[in-house]
Amino acid sequence: MTTILEVEQLRTRFRTENGVVNVVDGVDFSIRAGETLGVVGESGCGKSVTSLSIMRLLPPNGRAEGTIRFNGTNLLELSEKEMQAVRGNEISMIFQEPMTSLNPLHTVGRQIEEAILLHWKVSKAQAKERAIAMLKAVGMPRAEEIYAEYPHQLSGGMRQRVMIAMAMACDPKLIIADEPTTALDVTIQAQILDLMRELKEKTGTSIMLITHDLGVVAEMCDRVIVMYAGQVVEETDVETLFEQPKHPYTIGLMRSIPELDEEREYLDTIPGAVPLPNQMPKGCRFAPRCAQAMPICHEQPPELLQLDGHKCRCWLYAEGRDEA
Ligand code: SF4
Ligand code: MG
Repeated sequence: MTTILEVEQLRTRFRTENGVVNVVDGVDFSIRAGETLGVVGESGCGKSVTSLSIMRLLPPNGRAEGTIRFNGTNLLELSEKEMQAVRGNEISMIFQEPMTSLNPLHTVGRQIEEAILLHWKVSKAQAKERAIAMLKAVGMPRAEEIYAEYPHQLSGGMRQRVMIAMAMACDPKLIIADEPTTALDVTIQAQILDLMRELKEKTGTSIMLITHDLGVVAEMCDRVIVMYAGQVVEETDVETLFEQPKHPYTIGLMRSIPELDEEREYLDTIPGAVPLPNQMPKGCRFAPRCAQAMPICHEQPPELLQLDGHKCRCWLYAEGRDEA
């Protein structure tokens, strides 16, 4: 399979009142054509900042370094104008809360049309036709009527469908979806995930799916990277992730999945919190929360090890750790 996105040694820093902080710290991963890659971790682990770095949508105090190769081009070397031709066209994004990314003053149809007219040389009538076709493709009843409605007239689930219609309007090769269903209730969430899977199968687009929800990962993803404190700590295919998770952080995330059919009184949540970027532990970043931490873990940062079918950043899997 061809690789369409290759991220190498991505480092994203922010200038803050307290100095420069590294929010993403040496991240490597790739996405193949037609693949759905899950990016998992608690909030504050750098998932969203990774996606904003790819889209070149960081706030002015942020700066990304490294390589983000998309179809052979390093996006970090493009001018803003060149990047505009990529954004919304070759790569588009779906956010958690469509209300903040849809313009409340314009009708749904006009917004999809504008996304098309920005990138495609078509007439207004053709753009309208495409916009209505997209509303139908995302399962909107009464697509022609919805076309003329404003975002506030729609339910949360319908707005998310509009966002998906807009994101897919120009046939992107990659969609980055950042917690696309988190704000929705469970039934609607399942419908939106079904829709995304169906559209992915039809169009062959790749998806980078950012989520803290391992249930969503199980349903949607082919491969997964687990991020912790700005780094990748585990990478594997989705079956292996659920059958043989290796990193203690991943295992902790698994234990905190609520089991719907069981009445559990409490969840095994991971104790403690993700360290702040300017307060990183000097050894393993997970060590303060890890029940298996050994002396070396507090002293030396583990490398991302290449194991059988896995990548894992943990001293437990390093050879010769006993001597260390
Ligand atoms: Fe836990 Fe040590 Fe592995 Fe870090 S390196 S996850 S502290 S066992
Ligand atoms: Mg986020």
